Amino acid sequence: HGDPRIKAISDAIRVVPHFPKPGIMFQDITTLLLDQKAFKYTVDIFVDRYRDKKISVVAGVEARGFIFGPPIALAIGAKFVPLRKPKKLPGEVICESYVLEYGTDCLEMHVGAVQPGESVLIVDDLVATGGTLSAAIRLLERVGAEVVECACVIGLPQVKGNWRLNGVPLYVLVEPR
Ligand code: AMP
Repeated sequence: HGDPRIKAISDAIRVVPHFPKPGIMFQDITTLLLDQKAFKYTVDIFVDRYRDKKISVVAGVEARGFIFGPPIALAIGAKFVPLRKPKKLPGEVICESYVLEYGTDCLEMHVGAVQPGESVLIVDDLVATGGTLSAAIRLLERVGAEVVECACVIGLPQVKGNWRLNGVPLYVLVEPR
C-alpha cells in the first residue's frame, strides 16, 4: 500500500485477547471509531476506490458492516441494504446460512431491496474464514445482482491486498495484529 493512512488505521484498532472465547484475538473497531482521523481515512480509502465503479448498492453485514457501509454508500451515491441476523427484518426475506469463527448463523435480506443486474459492494469490518462474506455473496447473486467486490477493514495476512471469494474480489486494508 505505502499509504501512511493505513498505519493510522491499524494503530487505532484495539486487540482484545480471549474475547468472546478463549483463543480468539478480537479486533475491536470501536477504538477506530473514536479516532476521527483514522475513521475518516478508512471511509475515504474505500470511497476513492469505489466512487467511479458504477455501484448502485452497498450491502452491509450486521453489525459492523452497518458502521462502515452507510458513509461509503452516501459518498458514492449508492443505496444501503442491511444484511441482517435472523428474525430482524419485518418484510419478506431470503436467507443464507454460514459457519462462523465462533458458532453458526444466517444472514437475511429483504426481497425487492436489490434488483437483478444491480452492481453491489459488500462491506464488513473483518474477514476471517470468509464464511460470512460468502453467505452475503450468495444472497445477492440469488437475486441476480452482480457483486463487484467485498471490502473489509481487517483481513487475515493471506487476504490482505487482493484476494477472491467465490470468484468475487476481496479488498482489505489491514491485517489483524
Ligand atoms: P468469517 O465469517 O470467519 O470471515 O468471520 C467474519 C465475521 O466474524 C465478521 O462479521 C467479523 O465481525 C466477525 N469476526 C470473526 N473473527 C473476528 C475477530 N477475531 N475479531 C473481530 N471480529 C471477528
